[in-house]
Amino acid sequence: MTSEPLDQLETRDAAALDGVLIAGGGIGGLATALALSKRGIASTVLERRWVFGDDGAGIQIGPNGTRILEQLGAAPFLRARAMTPDALRVLDAANASELATFPLGRWMASRHGAPYWVAHRRDVHSALYSAAEREPLITIKMGFGVGVVRDKEKRVFAQGPDGELVSGEALIAADGAWSALRLRTFGGGLPNFTGKTAARTVIPIDDVPEALHRTEVHLWLGPDVHVVHYPVSSGHAVAIVAIFNDTRIANDWSTPRDRSWIAARTQGFAPPLRDLLARPEQWRSWPLLALPKRPKFAVGRTALLGDAAHPVLPFLAQGGVMALEDAVVIANALAAHPGDPARAFKSYEKQRRARVGRVARASRMNGRIYHLAGPLAAARNYALARITPERFMGRFDWLYGWKPPGSA
Ligand SMILES: Cc1cc2nc3c(=O)[nH]c(=O)nc-3n(C[C@H](O)[C@H](O)[C@H](O)COP(=O)(O)OP(=O)(O)OC[C@H]3O[C@@H](n4cnc5c(N)ncnc54)[C@H](O)[C@@H]3O)c2cc1C
Repeated sequence: MTSEPLDQLETRDAAALDGVLIAGGGIGGLATALALSKRGIASTVLERRWVFGDDGAGIQIGPNGTRILEQLGAAPFLRARAMTPDALRVLDAANASELATFPLGRWMASRHGAPYWVAHRRDVHSALYSAAEREPLITIKMGFGVGVVRDKEKRVFAQGPDGELVSGEALIAADGAWSALRLRTFGGGLPNFTGKTAARTVIPIDDVPEALHRTEVHLWLGPDVHVVHYPVSSGHAVAIVAIFNDTRIANDWSTPRDRSWIAARTQGFAPPLRDLLARPEQWRSWPLLALPKRPKFAVGRTALLGDAAHPVLPFLAQGGVMALEDAVVIANALAAHPGDPARAFKSYEKQRRARVGRVARASRMNGRIYHLAGPLAAARNYALARITPERFMGRFDWLYGWKPPGSA
């Protein structure tokens, strides 16, 4: 673990907190706190920000994620705001022809025993936050950006920006794709730009052309580009994400973009799609990142979780859901090895590595398929038109049918 400048500090002056420290109060951090509380384990979430912002746009949550939200007590809040899309409708971005329609809604729920939801990311976060706030075993400390961490004498010490020092039995770093804690302790290197940028926005339903007022996930495919949109916020709004090839990385995260930026990238699109993409006044762009090397997920009494451990590309809509799965697995591991977090974290790493690796590979493959051009795109479209919808969706049973090891 990092030894400076904490070595010079009197760790005995640290506030000794019960249970586990969690650095980061995003989807992964809050879900972990809730999963631990379900196993009777106390935790303190240390969040860098003073208030949670309105960041993010839409998020799709497959049955492997909604099942967990249910277990964590976050589903009732979200159920009123999330939408259950009937289908995934795949269209050609150039001419708006329908390439295929695959079942979601009732089909997913009956096949996997949990629904497929689409929601505003803010609503997912609020659902977790309000469940965590009601839980006596969880403390949330805002404005505590974890700087230095030290694993020493059966405690883990974490220092905040103003020198405040706390300690817990273990520490889980859930500090997101740009994780500073990963770099210092777990390896993996600095994230690289993948050559693709995602532009995201949410607009009121009244601003969406009427032909697209459908409770479906729309997926538009074009050469080196795809666009996804779906209703969120109880149907009052629509979340849109467009992913393009890009030659340079924006030098900041979540860059505001205006209409002209998107218009320059949507020439050649069919009129209904161009029309939709011309409606939002503001977009935010995210460079898509990949780690040059796989970091460790466990080092002594510290562990890495969520995007900090595995920032998967969004072509399978599973990054946040992987953080939910991580949360349940790490909580179960800590409950199975009381007093031995290092062993628990090794077990967590062992259980998660193959799964997140498979999801990351499937996501990269989806990205390649989505962005095909020329004869390869024609072959993809031919195959999409031929495969039966149920057979196609059945190929993702391994993904959506996941349950925590040992559960029924
Ligand atoms: C374009 C796009 C589309 C996506 N679509 C989907 C989708 O449809 N479905 C899906 O499941 N996922 C999707 N994702 C991925 C999903 O948003 C992320 O995987 C998820 O938010 C990761 O959660 P996290 O808690 O690991 O990290 P984050 O949400 O990044 O949270 C990290 C938290 O840690 C805090 N923090 C940072 N540093 C520190 C520190 N030093 N100390 C304390 N706190 C700190 C931050 O302020 C933040 O609150 C998408 C991502 C992108 C880019």
